[in-house]
Amino acid sequence: MLGLMQDHPLLISSLIEFAERHHGDRAIVSRRVEGDIHRYSWADAARRSCQVAHAVEAEGVPFSGRVATLAWNGYRHLELYYGVSGAGRVVHTINPRLHPGQLIWIVNHAEDQVLCFETSFLPLVQAIHTHCPTVRRWVLLCDADKLPHDSGIPNLVSYEAWIGAQSDRYTWPRFDENSAAGMCYTSGTTGDPKAVLYSHRSTILHAYGVALPDVTGLSACDVMLPVVPMFHVNAWGTPYAAALVGASLVFPGPALDGKSLYELIEAEKVTITAGVPTIWQMLLAHVSANKLRFSRLARLLIGGSAAPLAMIETFENDYGVKAIHAWGMTETSPLGTAWAPKAKHMDLSAQQCQPLKVKQGRAIFGVDLKIIDDQGHDVPWDGKTYGDLLIKGPWILRAYYKGQGSPLIRDEHALGWFPTGDVATIDADGYMQITDRSKDVIKSGGEWISSIDIENIAVAHPAVAMAACVGVPHPKWDERPVLLVVKRAGIEVSREELLRFYEDKIAKWQIPDDVIFMDSIALGATGKILKTKLREQLKDYKLPGV
Ligand code: AMP
Repeated sequence: MLGLMQDHPLLISSLIEFAERHHGDRAIVSRRVEGDIHRYSWADAARRSCQVAHAVEAEGVPFSGRVATLAWNGYRHLELYYGVSGAGRVVHTINPRLHPGQLIWIVNHAEDQVLCFETSFLPLVQAIHTHCPTVRRWVLLCDADKLPHDSGIPNLVSYEAWIGAQSDRYTWPRFDENSAAGMCYTSGTTGDPKAVLYSHRSTILHAYGVALPDVTGLSACDVMLPVVPMFHVNAWGTPYAAALVGASLVFPGPALDGKSLYELIEAEKVTITAGVPTIWQMLLAHVSANKLRFSRLARLLIGGSAAPLAMIETFENDYGVKAIHAWGMTETSPLGTAWAPKAKHMDLSAQQCQPLKVKQGRAIFGVDLKIIDDQGHDVPWDGKTYGDLLIKGPWILRAYYKGQGSPLIRDEHALGWFPTGDVATIDADGYMQITDRSKDVIKSGGEWISSIDIENIAVAHPAVAMAACVGVPHPKWDERPVLLVVKRAGIEVSREELLRFYEDKIAKWQIPDDVIFMDSIALGATGKILKTKLREQLKDYKLPGV
């Protein structure tokens, strides 16, 4: 016997319809490439998303056809999210920080038919467009009168002209909720990038997950500023979760430096924001150098790489902003775990909880986790034993687009677990802690050293602005850790002093063998430390005494 409830497919168009009808007056504020501030509401966004839907139809893009974006976080990007997916086409967000060769590869692999791009990427598109034969329409995200006439790009139109001629009423089609809605390529640090294809169903279920009280607790009273780019796993689903609860959105455009972010947070009374630790480092440097305070900011979601304890403590103790440490990946939409207390922590003070927050949190309903050893056996949840982290759930990848077979590991129920490539521990309460990417773990004398632990300790030293730890080959121990450090301006520290800093914090054999001071540390396209590049830079380096 089947249940007798209404059969509504979970479609992305229902989010924008809901936001328009129930929270239509809530503001969407965007700092544009031009530097000015654009303001409108969810109702305006909904009307213009209808115009986008008509425009892709008029362009002849078929159902499931790909419409790509090379864009910052802003209102036009939001309209493409809803207009393209809502009309049953696939919005393919491309990371503009990738190498042009990788961009070409991705556009061809995805067979994008329309590509919408920001004026800041005009030179990039001029360089690649002849190599992208599937793209039949190039859309510059600008006003009609700003379109350059000598760009050399055929079939180029301004976004405002492209949608301007279309009606702002559209009947969103109904289709299978498992249809593809969005596409995002992994950063491709090993081999070619791989495409993750989100469905309408996975996107909506994930948006509910993001809004849960033990995750962001996002509500109709919030003003959310996603700093995490809309080209990186859909800004962690925040543009969808905001529509689902009726939150206001503030988009930073390309200005992600500490000063610009601080000014936007204050001017727009932002209550919650989301981004990677490197962004928060820049924000903290700005507020501390200028002795500033946050007037409304209450919560801050940190993920993408490990949040150091020093950062969590500074936000919470010095600025009264609750830090929510979360973990996920492109393949997991991305939300996998988030840190929130359990009832047993209620007797602890907020400060007593802080050291626990270096863990990446616990699974939220919708996903399940496990850790396994080399033979595929489960390892205990004791907070000490580490294993390869597997994850499953309705917003976790099953197969890559055009992938050869499925990467899933089957269990006894033939259900698939996605192997994350991360190494982690899980404690008895279910809190997971990432030890490393499996390829970044330092293997020394048969034991493992977590590069994340070494980095977290280093950045707690007042003279350290940024730190990275990599393994360097050693004739006896296989590998030994070396610490790379960028010093904070105006504060001196020596190699010996930094090594001494580890003495009461970790086992002696885990202390790095050397410290190398650098002017800068290479970051990848999503703001994470590029360990492959660092290893390359160290290829002629010899450990002391070897
Ligand atoms: P991406 O698919 O580019 O978002 O990268 C996903 C990877 O980033 C994960 O597999 C982890 O290695 C890393 N990552 C994400 N969040 C965290 C976190 N909170 N702590 C440590 N590593 C993280």
